[in-house]
Amino acid sequence: MIYNSIIETIGNTPIVRLNNVVKGIPGTILAKVEYFNPGNSTKDRMAIKMVEDAEKAGLLKPGGTIIEGTSGNTGMGLALAAVAKGYRCIFTMADKQSQEKINILKAVGAEVIVCPTNVAPDDPRSYYSVARKLNKEIPNSIYPNQYDNPSNAAAHYATTGPEIWNQTGGKITHYVATVGTGGSMCGTARYLKEQNPNLVTVGIDTYGSVFKKYKETGIFDENEIYPYLTEGFGEDILPKNVDFDVIDTFIKVTDKDGAIAARRLSREEGLFVGWSSGSALHGALEYARENLKKDDVMVILLPDHGTRYLAKVYNDQWMKDHGFLETRAFGSARDIIN
Ligand code: PMP
Repeated sequence: MIYNSIIETIGNTPIVRLNNVVKGIPGTILAKVEYFNPGNSTKDRMAIKMVEDAEKAGLLKPGGTIIEGTSGNTGMGLALAAVAKGYRCIFTMADKQSQEKINILKAVGAEVIVCPTNVAPDDPRSYYSVARKLNKEIPNSIYPNQYDNPSNAAAHYATTGPEIWNQTGGKITHYVATVGTGGSMCGTARYLKEQNPNLVTVGIDTYGSVFKKYKETGIFDENEIYPYLTEGFGEDILPKNVDFDVIDTFIKVTDKDGAIAARRLSREEGLFVGWSSGSALHGALEYARENLKKDDVMVILLPDHGTRYLAKVYNDQWMKDHGFLETRAFGSARDIIN
């Protein structure tokens, strides 16, 4: 089969059984490996849908510009769509993001503007505000706004949900995903819960993000907001794509636990995944240890690929500098734990 362009290869990613990191835990635990998408992340699915929905609505015309605030993966998906369809792309990113992510976006022809991480979302310097301002200034430009754009969750409702349902033969009982914009959790969850109302969803949140507290109390607590290192999920805002009704429970995962779990997926399963995939695994196993029964089938969405984290999670020195790797006293390099 010959694809007409790279964007036709988005989706239909494999589900892989986890064999080693799940030892001693009841039930079947499976991974939906989203790095098989052409931009190496789950965000390709919603990027192409946001572009095509904007075209259909007459908002994006030939020669137009796509402007987005992105941690990198949405940018990659949008950039691929832009190359295939002939648009210009400008991305604003927080300065805590990996240099690799910035370089990758530039490699596929996008312009990248780096903005400070630790300013409030409504500060004019934040990556949200800069994207909005450029959208006002540049004629024939769109600002898809992945946080509030319904095409985001709709892409996962249309593709990720049905794929998981079919690949597991309808046997899935638990779905686990990190929650950033909420698209990959909530679009998929909505589809799966329509097929099986008893299906349980577990959202993975970070320390420094507002979601878990909001779900449990209905309070948007600013004390929950503080800097963290993990990239791509957890938020200091409530995106419209986060539908709290389809997320049954949240688990928070530390930067360190996510990083160590990502390395375990690489070394013990051969799944060379990104940091948030480790966070998803760590939270999933925490939930599974207490709650999973032997006939249950849990699917964990692994959002992206490890190459983007070579300078961080997959760099032993960086891990040690952050206190994420301990070395034994008198140990050699071979004695690094984890
Ligand atoms: N992990 C990574 C690496 C991401 O780029 C994203 C997207 N922001 C997520 C997790 C969370 O996905 P979503 O935006 O669909 O909630």
